[in-house]
Amino acid sequence: MQAVRFDSQLHVVTNQPVPMVPKGEALLRVRQVGVCSTDIEITRGYMGFSGTLGHEFVATVEQCEDRALMGKRVVGEINCVCTSCDMCVGGLSNHCRNRTVLGIVNRDGCFAEFCVLPANNLHVLPDQVDDDMAVFVEPLAAAVQVTKQVRMDSKTFVTVVGGGRLGLLVAQVVNNLGVPVRVIGRDAAKLSLCERWQIRSRHVKDIQPRKDQDVVIDCTGSSDGLELAMQLVRPRGTLVLKSTFVPTRPLNLAPIVVDEINVIGSRCGPFAAAIQLMADRAIDVTSLISRRFKLDQAPAAIEHAQKPGVLKVLMRG
Ligand SMILES: [Zn+2]
Repeated sequence: MQAVRFDSQLHVVTNQPVPMVPKGEALLRVRQVGVCSTDIEITRGYMGFSGTLGHEFVATVEQCEDRALMGKRVVGEINCVCTSCDMCVGGLSNHCRNRTVLGIVNRDGCFAEFCVLPANNLHVLPDQVDDDMAVFVEPLAAAVQVTKQVRMDSKTFVTVVGGGRLGLLVAQVVNNLGVPVRVIGRDAAKLSLCERWQIRSRHVKDIQPRKDQDVVIDCTGSSDGLELAMQLVRPRGTLVLKSTFVPTRPLNLAPIVVDEINVIGSRCGPFAAAIQLMADRAIDVTSLISRRFKLDQAPAAIEHAQKPGVLKVLMRG
């Protein structure tokens, strides 16, 4: 089958074997995938991953012991867990000590004709959530996770730093809860989407940080973004880190100590909640689609996803 592989270099291969299906897992025929910043980071060496890339997908179940899932259109949670370690037993299976992660840790990803995931990871999609929306379930779930970790209400002042793919999803999720939120970004075209959703936005060059925000959510994946976030959050406020990145220079973390900032790391979130938000049309994801590529154009697609002004890049076989 065709697959987009990374082993210190990116290759599109056509002779990758269709994956074997371990017990309890399902073979998925991939319908469409999304390019994520994590994929881009991996091509720069993040996680030392080698194998098939990709973790944002919508697929059809091709083979599965659970007959009820056969032929169903699904999305899948990307953490594959052991169910027996202390984290799993303690109800924190997303932090399983033996986990593999689709296209990120020790498991081939979805930038291919087929991939495999445990049947328990799959979520059948309602008809209201089409293939274009479905590739956003994984990143939208990650956005929802912030609201599960930090209490916010109509009196909480929230700033999202970063007007990219993830920042725009996080801002919509927070706004949907009736929480006052603004987005700070550096791309006017991306920020203009906020107007459509009635979310306030500011260009980074127009910002005077005053250390007055209750909650600041960094979605930039950059040293500059994180430092700005530390200048925006009030003393004893909460700073949520949503992006993994390799710092390009030493960071001054003193404000965390001096201002007694609560720092919260935030990763994957609840798929069911994300699917429901889309089915309810509470979140607009399809406006984020910038361009579509064929799977065999993956190197061009991944390069395009890094260009200024580009939000979500999709690929199909
Ligand atoms: Zn485990």
